[in-house]
Amino acid sequence: MNRAALRVSLPLLAALGRAGASSEDDQEDGGEDSPHSQEKGPGHSHWSYEDREHWGVDYPDCGGTMQSPINIETAKTIFSPELRPIQLSGYSLPASEKLKLRNNGHTVLLELPKSLAITGGYAQQYRAVQLHLHWGSPLGPGSEHTINGHRFAAEIHVVHYNTKYESIEEAMVHPDGLAVLGAFLEVGPKENPYYQEILEHLHKIQREGEEVLVSGFNIAGLLPDNLKLYFHYNGSLTTPPCYQTVKWTVFNQTMLLSHKQMLMLVTSLRNDDSKPLQNNYRLVQGLHGRRVLASFQTTLISTKHSRGGDGSAAAEGHSSSSFHAGDVLAVLFGVLFAVTALAFLLYIYKHRSQNTRLDSPTKSKVIYTAATTENTA
Ligand SMILES: [Zn+2]
Repeated sequence: MNRAALRVSLPLLAALGRAGASSEDDQEDGGEDSPHSQEKGPGHSHWSYEDREHWGVDYPDCGGTMQSPINIETAKTIFSPELRPIQLSGYSLPASEKLKLRNNGHTVLLELPKSLAITGGYAQQYRAVQLHLHWGSPLGPGSEHTINGHRFAAEIHVVHYNTKYESIEEAMVHPDGLAVLGAFLEVGPKENPYYQEILEHLHKIQREGEEVLVSGFNIAGLLPDNLKLYFHYNGSLTTPPCYQTVKWTVFNQTMLLSHKQMLMLVTSLRNDDSKPLQNNYRLVQGLHGRRVLASFQTTLISTKHSRGGDGSAAAEGHSSSSFHAGDVLAVLFGVLFAVTALAFLLYIYKHRSQNTRLDSPTKSKVIYTAATTENTA
């Protein structure tokens, strides 16, 4: 924590201020209606977001007590030092490897080769299957998880299954079966080249069921640079069948896309009714006593995620997470306290100096500085 003191800078504070300001204009959870997308591959079911209140009828787990997404109240998260950085392997794919990108009517889904895996941060190894996105509309944001009630523009989910199972179908019915990495997308100043690898193909898969082959790229670029700072909790698929078998990781650092890119994401696709595929997110679900762990301390600043990497400078640590912002504030308050304490001490000294001199004028100068005695004279 103390090392953060060295990093205190006005630009950081300014950035913090901006982050805070831009987050205020957010809407609450209630009342949107929206579709939702799927966590798994073989989805072809006929559920819809209009129907989400009734998912539990056909899919009993959707009415369970360990459902996702959730609102993460940072002040209530539990700092857990054992949560090690997430480590990814095999995420950098050569352009020669072709991946299927599909509009499944609920989301855009990129199939991932088996070579991608989570090799650190979880107790077990998980193999990637697919990634997909959740988004809003030109009128509003559409992340699934929210942080302190704040909904982000969009959210990426990278779905993995435990390698101790033969397939995702087998894994998804076991409590330790799935691991999903989630990150929030926000609008930033620059085009994000990694997301562009996906977005530039959307116009070719506007209709449900359409798919296109895209060239391999560094999939890790779709996730934050900083994989150390995250929230962790046990939850579910956010679409039917809502199996409660997902160990969730939600990163603290957000991804930045240009405004144009975000617009492309939310306006390019259509659903099975040939209507715009928008607001494909599920509303937040009750915690029912579940605890949300944090890999970092969130106590001081419980507000929000801040801008981090835009993904365009993969190895450059240009992140400014709320963790660092919290440190900055801690240092500021520390300095303020020190100044106040000093002023108080000076006042006391001054006062005692006066009193002392009134009592025994000859002794005062011995103890107190000349300047002080001059002023009080
Ligand atoms: Zn999802």
